[in-house]
Amino acid sequence: MPAVLSRTLRATVRGAEVYLVPRADGEMIVGATSEERGPDRTVSAGAVHDLLHDAMSVLPVTSELTLAETCAGLRPGTPDNGPAAGATGLGGLLAATGHYRNGILLSAVTADAVVAWLTGQPAAAEWAPFSPARFAAGVRS
Ligand SMILES: Cc1cc2nc3c(=O)[nH]c(=O)nc-3n(C[C@H](O)[C@H](O)[C@H](O)COP(=O)(O)OP(=O)(O)OC[C@H]3O[C@@H](n4cnc5c(N)ncnc54)[C@H](O)[C@@H]3O)c2cc1C
Repeated sequence: MPAVLSRTLRATVRGAEVYLVPRADGEMIVGATSEERGPDRTVSAGAVHDLLHDAMSVLPVTSELTLAETCAGLRPGTPDNGPAAGATGLGGLLAATGHYRNGILLSAVTADAVVAWLTGQPAAAEWAPFSPARFAAGVRS
């Protein structure tokens, strides 16, 4: 497939953000919607419609491309939208999750913190507010 885009394009269409990302093989990714639906990975027709509509507004040639795949991923989040990282209170079990929209961005600093906890070193002080213990009151044993 010939590439129609050589670099990532970000735009706002009717108040909604859309991004178009070229892949090396010529395919292009259009993203993304965000909904609170739990672990449901089904793809809704309306979301595909809205994304394609917005992509065509930004890059009209999108309408001539083949729709190769639709997919939905998860952005694990917590009630206060902060990560849950550190000791869980269960012997030997650490948590490093709940990064919501920033899990890729925060993967390196999260890995540093996990290594520190596993080796008995202090993690960076910035992690203190994000202990899973802040949710302990709501956990049933
Ligand atoms: C469309 C989209 C765009 C995104 N864009 C960005 C971005 O630009 N920048 C950014 O920083 N972040 C982005 N994110 C968010 C990022 O992907 C997440 O924050 C990150 O993946 C969360 O990492 P995690 O390890 O906590 O959870 P996950 O990546 O969801 O990993 C959890 C893993 O646990 C496995 N699992 C689940 N249940 C079980 C079970 N019972 N037993 C065994 N294994 C299990 C799953 O299969 C999965 O492999 C995006 C997410 C989506 C969906």
